[in-house]
Amino acid sequence: SKAKLFDEKTDTRTSFKDVAGLEGAKEEVEEIVDFLRNPDKYTSLGGKIPKGALLVGPPGTGKTLLAKAVAGEAKVPFFSLSGSDFVEMFVGVGASRVRDLFKQAKDKSPAIIFIDEIDAIGRARGKNNFTGSNDERENTLNQLLTEMDGFGTNTNVIVLAATNRADVLDKALMRAGRFDRQIYVDLPDIRERKEIFEVHLRPIKTSETLDTEFLARQTPGFSGADIANVCNEAALIAARKEKKAVSKQDFLDAVDRIVGGLEKKNKIIT
Ligand code: ATP
Repeated sequence: SKAKLFDEKTDTRTSFKDVAGLEGAKEEVEEIVDFLRNPDKYTSLGGKIPKGALLVGPPGTGKTLLAKAVAGEAKVPFFSLSGSDFVEMFVGVGASRVRDLFKQAKDKSPAIIFIDEIDAIGRARGKNNFTGSNDERENTLNQLLTEMDGFGTNTNVIVLAATNRADVLDKALMRAGRFDRQIYVDLPDIRERKEIFEVHLRPIKTSETLDTEFLARQTPGFSGADIANVCNEAALIAARKEKKAVSKQDFLDAVDRIVGGLEKKNKIIT
């Protein structure tokens, strides 16, 4: 496919204000923001800035959002690619994409590189369900490790990678000087769901003051992405009825619709 393998976004619009909940994860990545902003503060004392961190957690919990917010807060460019882009790739192409990506990021450093679904390239040998050739997957993984090992002390590029399957990753990825930090990004609890509703209600025109605690109670097990989806769906439901603003009932209808979708999805998986 002609899918774009990485894109650079120099816009700095995503900030920690866009990320609700996830206090622990935010605290950990705040340190990364400071490494990018004030590298000399750390290196002058002989410290080595970490090269990579792994964001681990279920789908839709805000791993990509958090990585973008790190770039936004540090005001550095964001380069990204997804492990799934490497599926069915011709021999040599994966490794050369990785090389290009790192070259671009180093040229524009300080910078963030984000690798989503790293498990697609970083699975341990033998546990692989990569549909492309296994050799090519290994070439791509080796190139990634080579690039990270080749960072000089003043490269100032930090690689963030996301996965929901840290258990299947090749241990070589987690070795010191690579992705030696793991940051957990869990499904939101009720208080966090309330905060996520508050973020995603910002652009929505509502006909009444919505009780976000009530909405949080109606959505156990929902991820941040599911909640964003509820808010958007509620607005579409209201618009379809030619309404001028979105009501509580529209939100409840949207929750039902998303629950229906989630149930279907789970049926397919199990
Ligand atoms: P995946 O593993 O499926 O790639 P992810 O963990 O990277 O998922 P994101 O892509 O960051 O999840 O989340 C999708 C969208 O869901 C975000 O763009 C945002 O709109 C919303 N979202 C998820 N988590 C949060 C959160 N903690 N606060 C606010 N919005 C969130």
